[in-house]
Amino acid sequence: MSPSAAPTPSDPAEPGSPSASLVTWEAWREPGIGGSARTDLSTLEALRLLNEVRCFGRIPLLLIGHPLRRGDLGVLVEHGARIGLAMRLAPGGDALTAFHTESLRDAGLQRVAFDADARPWPALLQEVAGARAQGLGVHVTMRVDPASQARLPELGQELERAGVHVWTLAFPTESGVPMLRGAGLDAALLQVARLAAELSMQVEVAGAPQVHRVLQEAGLPADLLAVAPADGVGLLHVRADGVLQPSAALALGVGDARQDDLVDAFRESPALGALRDPERLGGKCRFCEYAGTCGGSRARAWAFTGDALRAPDPAGGYLPADTAATYTAEPPAAAPPARPAAAGSG
Ligand code: SF4
Repeated sequence: MSPSAAPTPSDPAEPGSPSASLVTWEAWREPGIGGSARTDLSTLEALRLLNEVRCFGRIPLLLIGHPLRRGDLGVLVEHGARIGLAMRLAPGGDALTAFHTESLRDAGLQRVAFDADARPWPALLQEVAGARAQGLGVHVTMRVDPASQARLPELGQELERAGVHVWTLAFPTESGVPMLRGAGLDAALLQVARLAAELSMQVEVAGAPQVHRVLQEAGLPADLLAVAPADGVGLLHVRADGVLQPSAALALGVGDARQDDLVDAFRESPALGALRDPERLGGKCRFCEYAGTCGGSRARAWAFTGDALRAPDPAGGYLPADTAATYTAEPPAAAPPARPAAAGSG
């Protein structure tokens, strides 16, 4: 496919076919210590990637990593917008200046996604105001852990006053960091649901599919808040070196953006197919009545055990009735080190 040609979706209307609703792309990664060679996609490769993403439909493409460091960023944003992608950008810890917001808005950027944990709070509010002044949509992601939980109501109100459109509350999926588990996780999710009911901006939960169960148990509407696509279920991640993964956190190689047709890779990868099939889950999640809507965080299961499929989510405390005699409610106390990222098809 010519990089500049508007793509024709190869098979967009096939009923029942899995399709990505969000693609994240690590557009720039800093070289490691020791100066390892750069492996980021070239401009031509990136343009081809955008065309491939467009074959999923007019979906959002979120540029993460350090996208502001790409010299061709304006060209890529303009091309993505022109072919119909909803172009979004997360600057990571880099500061988004007035020059960036104005030029990227003119190129067709729709939304900026700030990581609240990567910048001081006053700087965040200043950057939010700058993006809002240029008419950009603003998304703020914030980690929820035992330390930040108490401040959520106050921070949510402040972000709403600042004009934020979407507030994503991200529950950690990596091992070796403080996280809420079991009853504590359920209580936090209920707190987030009640906040969502009070705020007018959209509230989204990431890393905690248990929210589906918590809402149902509390008799709250399922659409009270949004649940971020995760781990191959609606989400596809493109690593800086082109390796396709279920998500940034679940470093399981399922293809190569430099060579593969993205839609085919997403539909036909055995690993992604397994992640989307509740029947393939292991542990207590397999027998859980919420497996179809929750299924646990596969990225967290992978980070703690090295097995994304057969291990239960270590943060989940729920005991399905069928498994009460087999499993204890206590999640693993110690986290083994996460396996290194793996590349390659499968
Ligand atoms: S047992 Fe697994 S599928 Fe069931 S609620 Fe807990 S994490 Fe979700």
